[in-house]
Amino acid sequence: MAEEVMSKNFIEQIIEKDLAEGKVKKVVTRFPPEPNGYLHIGHAKSILLNYGLAKEYGGQFNLRFDDTNPTKEKTEFVQSILEDVKWLGADFGDRVFFASNYFDQMYEAAVKLIKKGKAFVCDLSADEIREYRGTLTEPGKESPYRNRSIEENLELFEGMKNGEYPDGSKVLRAKIDMASPNINMRDPVIYRVARMTHHNTGDKWCIYPMYDFAHPIEDAIEGVSHSICTLEFEDHRPLYDWVVRELEYENPPKQIEFAKLYLTNVITGKRYIKKLVEDGIVDGWDDPRLVSIAALRRRGFTADSIKKFMELVGISKSNSSVDYAMLEYCVRDDLKLKANRYMAVVDPIKLVIDNYPEDQVEMLDSANNQENEAAGVRQIPFSKYLYIERDDFMEEPPKKYFRLFPGNEVRLMNAYFVTCTSCEKDENGNVTTVHCTYDPETKSGSGFNARKVKGTIHWVSAESAIDAEVRLYENIVDEEKGKLNEDGSLNLNPNSLVVKQGCKLEKTFAEAKPGEAFQFVRNGFFCLDSKDSTSDHPVYNRIVSLKSSYKPGK
Ligand code: ATP
Ligand code: MG
Repeated sequence: MAEEVMSKNFIEQIIEKDLAEGKVKKVVTRFPPEPNGYLHIGHAKSILLNYGLAKEYGGQFNLRFDDTNPTKEKTEFVQSILEDVKWLGADFGDRVFFASNYFDQMYEAAVKLIKKGKAFVCDLSADEIREYRGTLTEPGKESPYRNRSIEENLELFEGMKNGEYPDGSKVLRAKIDMASPNINMRDPVIYRVARMTHHNTGDKWCIYPMYDFAHPIEDAIEGVSHSICTLEFEDHRPLYDWVVRELEYENPPKQIEFAKLYLTNVITGKRYIKKLVEDGIVDGWDDPRLVSIAALRRRGFTADSIKKFMELVGISKSNSSVDYAMLEYCVRDDLKLKANRYMAVVDPIKLVIDNYPEDQVEMLDSANNQENEAAGVRQIPFSKYLYIERDDFMEEPPKKYFRLFPGNEVRLMNAYFVTCTSCEKDENGNVTTVHCTYDPETKSGSGFNARKVKGTIHWVSAESAIDAEVRLYENIVDEEKGKLNEDGSLNLNPNSLVVKQGCKLEKTFAEAKPGEAFQFVRNGFFCLDSKDSTSDHPVYNRIVSLKSSYKPGK
């Protein structure tokens, strides 16, 4: 019932109308990436939207590589795209297609248009075609080759295919309307001569179809019912419709546009990312400060958190930017119950419990996640020598500082009350060791309630601590300070990555698996890096801190 009440988005409304009117029997959607780079968070939106609609209406979701332009496409990208789409949980089953496998059908489709008198071979140069095209306010001029006979066109087009003409010397154009107010309809080029080796078809073809001609054919061949794309293709829709109509497909696909996802404080432009990678400013396309899907995965974002984010964002018809903090809110929310909460000290100083027996190690029970009983309990070692966070001690505390300072008593999480007695410093005046005494009566879980303390701090037992590198991330650019400098270069945040060595983790972390996410108690969510981590030198990425500026519904 609740579902019924929830309002449907405009695409769902279109689909439901098509189903109700019997125009569409089965909903078929597709995600059509061009394998010319890594997928990013914007693509995730398209993937989850298309997959989600197919699932919602009991239909089918295809993954199709839109590989009709060989210059920029690579097999490496095909592999990364397959991995990313699977990771997001968009199940395409065995329906992985390549537009390049339809080149024969596209060629036949072009021949069909020629035979119908709807396409012609044109010898104008690219510059001349542009000149003849006209402007937004002026109609175009017809090509002098527009009225070639069908026979001549068939022969010339076959010659183009057979390599009889040099690159760029001839094109095949749709014969539509040079006076159309929509420039896309002014006899657009649909095939060009270009000798390029294709990652899939090799050197079989020296003519390649243009996107606006190829895409509707790909959709029609696969029986796509709703071809969902982003707003910049709105003006191309009349051409899309023309192609499927002239080719007389029985169940022509319908193009629907929605607004692209833009995020604040991140970089999505391929051009900028490429430069950051090439200049060595980031560590490859999966650097955790980027928002490629590979980077988000490496940083520790879960597929569920990305799904939740897309649900919150919704879909719309107008472009706008979404606050990055909303994505952070989603991953926090997702990990809240899923991630175990262990103790880790990122900026350690020593804590010595002077009245605790020298070689004693006590095992203490500790809940893995206080908010999720099902996560169970583990035992952690406690001893005379511990590590605590540097900022959990202050020699001269300000008001309302409830953590350790000389004379003050705090609770060591899951352990005992300790009272600070003194501290040691190095020659620069930095605190190295804090001394305290403990009260054996105050053991956690013992029911002790004779007195209360205001502060609880976390700690790690020195004798079994694991040394780790921790990478703290901030946004790579700050929207409020401006993403770009005056010279057009990126205004990078110098603190986007801070590396901490010698962090101390409780020994439970020895079992962490690459990619696994944890809460470092009181600190944030972190994930074991899947690229640089080794068993001797674990590396943890901060996914997100615990505090948020974002509130849902804000
Ligand atoms: P980019 O230039 O950012 O890589 P693109 O559109 O060139 O994007 P394609 O591989 O052609 O990349 O896109 C595949 C699909 O993903 C297309 O249907 C496209 O509309 C969609 N898409 C791309 N960027 C976004 C975005 N920011 N939000 C939603 N969908 C997107
Ligand atoms: Mg593209």
